[in-house]
Amino acid sequence: MKHAFYIPNYDILVDSPIEIGNHEVISFEAAGVPHEVVMYGATDYNPEQIKRDLTKIVESATAIFGENPNEKYIFFLHHGERDAGGLEHMNSTVLGLSRWAYQYKNSYDHFLALAAHEYFHLWMVKRLKPVELEHLDYDRENYTDMLWLMEGITSYYDQKIMLRAGFYDETEFLNNLLDEMSDVKNTPGSRVQSLTEASFDAWIKYYRRDENSNNSQISYYTKGTIIGALLDLKIISSSGGKYSLDDVVYQLYHQFYKKEEKGLTGDDFKKAAEQAVGSSLDQFFDDYVYGTTDLDNEKYLKLAGIELIDLNQTINDKSIGIWYSASACGLEVSQVIRNSSAFDNGLNVGDELIAVDDYRINEENFDQLISRYKVGDRATFTISRNGIVRSISLEIRKNTSVDYSFEMTKNPGKQQEKTYKVWMGK
Ligand SMILES: [Zn+2]
Repeated sequence: MKHAFYIPNYDILVDSPIEIGNHEVISFEAAGVPHEVVMYGATDYNPEQIKRDLTKIVESATAIFGENPNEKYIFFLHHGERDAGGLEHMNSTVLGLSRWAYQYKNSYDHFLALAAHEYFHLWMVKRLKPVELEHLDYDRENYTDMLWLMEGITSYYDQKIMLRAGFYDETEFLNNLLDEMSDVKNTPGSRVQSLTEASFDAWIKYYRRDENSNNSQISYYTKGTIIGALLDLKIISSSGGKYSLDDVVYQLYHQFYKKEEKGLTGDDFKKAAEQAVGSSLDQFFDDYVYGTTDLDNEKYLKLAGIELIDLNQTINDKSIGIWYSASACGLEVSQVIRNSSAFDNGLNVGDELIAVDDYRINEENFDQLISRYKVGDRATFTISRNGIVRSISLEIRKNTSVDYSFEMTKNPGKQQEKTYKVWMGK
């Protein structure tokens, strides 16, 4: 019967999106597997371009693992007013996209990177999975401290696939990575919560954010992406270009999922990475995965002859350390950054900033008003807290956030050149 489906067990049933409607269907074959793209919701796209570009994504991802696990694969694309993320399944994915996603390079790249991310999950998460997620209990939360690996390393690979498939050039790839590095460095929570803690607490923290989240949490997606890059650089450099992180994920998939049919622990991953590096990674994992030591991005990028530059170093930006939105009488504080002047001097989330010394504050003039002071000056702010007007004195400090960029080393050594080439897939 054409419309009768057999589902072998409950896990597969709940992992299988079922849609009925008048979707537009694009069919193509990639990596020897029939693929379908099914389009739901008003949108505007070029089917030939989508076929061609998703073929590149599928083939680049498949090349990493040496085989494609599917007999058939479906991309369900739901179009709405704005992007809405994606979810991976055993042999399909559902992506929520802005209906105009295909019109501009940035949004089109976002679509392809999201497709690459969910496609990489076919191997990492849907097949090679943490021991704790092997047998799911649908009645309660399932905890694992490995989301940094499952989501972070996958996020690193969506970028690597975009580079290899030719959608990003080397500069775009590096700039995206440096944006993530800036982001982690500028998030005080990275010095409070480790990657394993962030993974374990995802149920109660990552998906339930509040005004203090940036002070107390780090995204296992963002920091996990960087961990992927640093490990990749370390493996390529210390093996003289013989191995890369690709060999680690390849080996783990084939050993744990294919051969031994069992789940993965964080220690298994560490051991496989150590084999590729040829030495212990105790310090690396203690500092960056189980611990909250600041990432030494400079050191690892240098392995590939890349010099990290902080564009903010030369700008004398000032700050009191808040995020805000416009309010009826000035600005309302939405976040107070840990260890900033606002934090140390008792400004609170929800306080309304009305004036600084003799001047009324608004969204447009706030930066200008602050920049009039010298670093170390104190300014008196008139605020409203809970409807009571009062004054608070704040020290004006230098804005310590970073904005990373890069330069290539002038005279790179042979090993640096080799590492860069292998990293870029040349
Ligand atoms: Zn994911």
